Amino acid sequence: MASALILGEVSSLGATQQTLELLTAARSLLVDGDTIAAAFTGSPGLSTPNVPADSIYLIEHDALGESDSATFDAATDSLTALATEIRPDIILSSRSDAGSVIAPRLAMRLDAAFARDCTSIERNDDAITVTRPVYGGNANARFKLNGPGPHVIMLRPGAYEPEAPSDDSPEPIRFDPIAHIRESQSELLRTVQEAQEGVRLEDAEVVISGGRGLGGPEPFRQLEELASILGGAVGASRAACDAGWIDHSQQVGLTGKSVSPRLYLTFGISGASQHMAGCSSARNIVAVNTDADASIFGDARFGVVGDWKNVLPALISAVRDIS
Ligand SMILES: Cc1cc2nc3c(=O)[nH]c(=O)nc-3n(C[C@H](O)[C@H](O)[C@H](O)COP(=O)(O)OP(=O)(O)OC[C@H]3O[C@@H](n4cnc5c(N)ncnc54)[C@H](O)[C@@H]3O)c2cc1C
Repeated sequence: MASALILGEVSSLGATQQTLELLTAARSLLVDGDTIAAAFTGSPGLSTPNVPADSIYLIEHDALGESDSATFDAATDSLTALATEIRPDIILSSRSDAGSVIAPRLAMRLDAAFARDCTSIERNDDAITVTRPVYGGNANARFKLNGPGPHVIMLRPGAYEPEAPSDDSPEPIRFDPIAHIRESQSELLRTVQEAQEGVRLEDAEVVISGGRGLGGPEPFRQLEELASILGGAVGASRAACDAGWIDHSQQVGLTGKSVSPRLYLTFGISGASQHMAGCSSARNIVAVNTDADASIFGDARFGVVGDWKNVLPALISAVRDIS
């Protein structure tokens, strides 16, 4: 018998998409009799998230309400105490802002094996093997996690389909963190709020990205128009961001964001390995580029050798007609 603990996160709409993806991943590892617990941290008044777990732990405290380093310290303290008490075999976290900070610290505190940015997990008998992209997404490596556990595994967003939210969540168990929260080792100096309009790049099912081949900032308005028709988000290569055509918060790649949409549509992007590192787990890549030898065509499922100036307006018009 095995048990999994999910480090859940909530937004104003309930459990995040990434939390529901963790549930799918956990369920794929478990057999009859195994259990899934989900833990959520937040300030007092946290509503019970709508997740189909066997048990739900709510950890509420004033120190857990923000999304800053002191909060992550307090969450690490609380979750370490919870994991020590309930002793899960596997702990799953998403590669969110909070998960990226908390999961490795939790692994260190629990003296547990840790694997980051995984795209799949397998369990054979009691051995856990994870797959994660390496060398900027150019190869996949498989790692076997040794030892009895717990194993802490951080999953790349979009690696699994999300489970459906549940209307019938179990009665939450309240875990009191007060005895466990230590004085924070960090001091918050400044907060910069990222402007957010429409769907978040990391959550988008459709991402339309532009590169240096667009030649300036104006064509990004057309990418935004297409993204809004398709309910998607706009991304960019680093070259386009460095040129000041679009904000760096929209950069996809090794030093930008990782996205895993169903459709990743690019215009004027060459497909450098550092860019592909951020989109290699997209289900379908479609590229528009004037150079038939551009390396992005090696990754693309469909490609158009052509000028974006001809293809993009025609595509917008065609998509408008059918939507
Ligand atoms: C340490 C490091 C980290 C990096 N991190 C990132 C990262 O996170 N993300 C990232 O993107 N890059 C990153 N880079 C940069 C990366 O190596 C590339 O330089 C960058 O991705 C190139 O951007 P691009 O494809 O837009 O531009 P280019 O390589 O200049 O390609 C432009 C493409 O547009 C095509 N084109 C030109 N005109 C048209 C037209 N009219 N219609 C259609 N196509 C046209 C061209 O054929 C060409 O293929 C990193 C580099 C380093 C060294």
